[in-house]
Amino acid sequence: MTDSSSAPKPVANARKRIMAGMRPTGKLHVGHLLGALNTFVDLSRRHDCYFEVADLHALTTKFERSDEIAADTRTMVMGWLAAGLDPEQCTIYVQSRIPEISELYTLLSMVVPVSWLERVPTYKDQIGELGSEIATHGFLGYPVLQTVDIAIMRGQGVPVGQDQLPHLELSREIVRRFNHHYGTVLLEPEAILSETPYVPGTDGRKMSKSYDNGLMLAETDDETLTRIKTMYTDPTKIHKTDPGHPEACPVFFFQTAFNPSMAPDIAHRCRAGKLGCVEDKADMARHLNAALAPLRERLRAIAAKPRFVDEILADGTKKARATAQATLAQVKAAMGLSG
Ligand code: SF4
Repeated sequence: MTDSSSAPKPVANARKRIMAGMRPTGKLHVGHLLGALNTFVDLSRRHDCYFEVADLHALTTKFERSDEIAADTRTMVMGWLAAGLDPEQCTIYVQSRIPEISELYTLLSMVVPVSWLERVPTYKDQIGELGSEIATHGFLGYPVLQTVDIAIMRGQGVPVGQDQLPHLELSREIVRRFNHHYGTVLLEPEAILSETPYVPGTDGRKMSKSYDNGLMLAETDDETLTRIKTMYTDPTKIHKTDPGHPEACPVFFFQTAFNPSMAPDIAHRCRAGKLGCVEDKADMARHLNAALAPLRERLRAIAAKPRFVDEILADGTKKARATAQATLAQVKAAMGLSG
């Protein structure tokens, strides 16, 4: 274990450089909004935020469908902007368009023991879930690339949920090992613990594009209502008069999120057999659609300007690349590789 005492520490309660990324998923759903985007927007108003479209990361599990990534990038960034990210207040960029990220990835890879990567819990879990064909060199090196994403932009803080803390700890460990060998060059990132609620999908499992169970941001009110009508509910409540268990019902989750003032009354009536699921779903759909209306309006306005997203990504990538170039130059100088 290396010594971390000499590593630079972020200044408490000051404006910080925040780095966060998201793989280009294409159309966004309410899970993205509640799980990440609302936090991104909040942080971008208080800090110097760098938001990365992590398209190289997407290749680790999607290398055979790489032709979808460009369109998914544009669609996702439209969702980011509609959710409230203001390109005047933050830097939005594309990972693969900054070659310095790949160069630093190569350099950092040299100091990271393979055993550190093999012990990452999600490595074995995801291979078990997605199959051994994703067990590539790139997939194993995912945590190194993630560390580079943060370090190269001089990220001091990274918004993470409790479940992602081990990944950030590994990034800190990698930075400490690099700094131990070459001097204090890279910043050790701090976790900004954010609430990442478990957002259920229409089938009760976690809302996810791969399960096709999302309530999408870019759909009409009627489409949302249609999806909600088929939503999984408490299976023990067949009739309106049956006592229900709202705490185990996805519909109630969304009532709590988008109709919070009425949630206690809804829970009471559900348990007392005085509220039917059909009625509750229609009510939930109304509140969700009302909450999403401004976002959907912005999404339509952005879609009407086809060059808008391209320009934002070009500007943001230019700015982020300058930061990356400066960090890489310091790293190479420290390693004795420059000039
Ligand atoms: S009444 Fe509402 S909260 Fe209760 S089980 Fe039905 S949908 Fe869920």
